[in-house]
Amino acid sequence: MTEVDLGHLLVTRWNEACEKLPDLNQVSPTYAFGTSKHFESDRGFATTIFNGSWFHLNLSSKLLQQDLSRIDAILRHEIGHIVDLAQIELPPGLPGTLERRADSIAELIWGETILYDTDHVQSLVSGISPRPEFLGL
Ligand SMILES: [Zn+2]
Repeated sequence: MTEVDLGHLLVTRWNEACEKLPDLNQVSPTYAFGTSKHFESDRGFATTIFNGSWFHLNLSSKLLQQDLSRIDAILRHEIGHIVDLAQIELPPGLPGTLERRADSIAELIWGETILYDTDHVQSLVSGISPRPEFLGL
């Protein structure tokens, strides 16, 4: 996938999230390909940065070499983090821990389960749910 295609996918997913959760329209996250200590890990592809007022999605260029299902699941998970950090009103009953909350929010928005594949990376097509405990919850 090219950077342009990934940008289009991210904007599409963001707009879908805003349709489902209109309060999200108050938030205008930025994104860019950058570096992070987290990206040194084989399963590190994206991080959400929140400084108290703005959100930034920091993406590894490694993401461009992944299959569409993985890219899409990772973007949905990160949008889940943004929704959570922005304290958008959500139905009760979501998990109490940050990483599982991000997945549950993504599932609420798109109606598809976030799975963890054999590389322990998010997927929409294969793997297990909920997120395994050893990955950090
Ligand atoms: Zn996460």
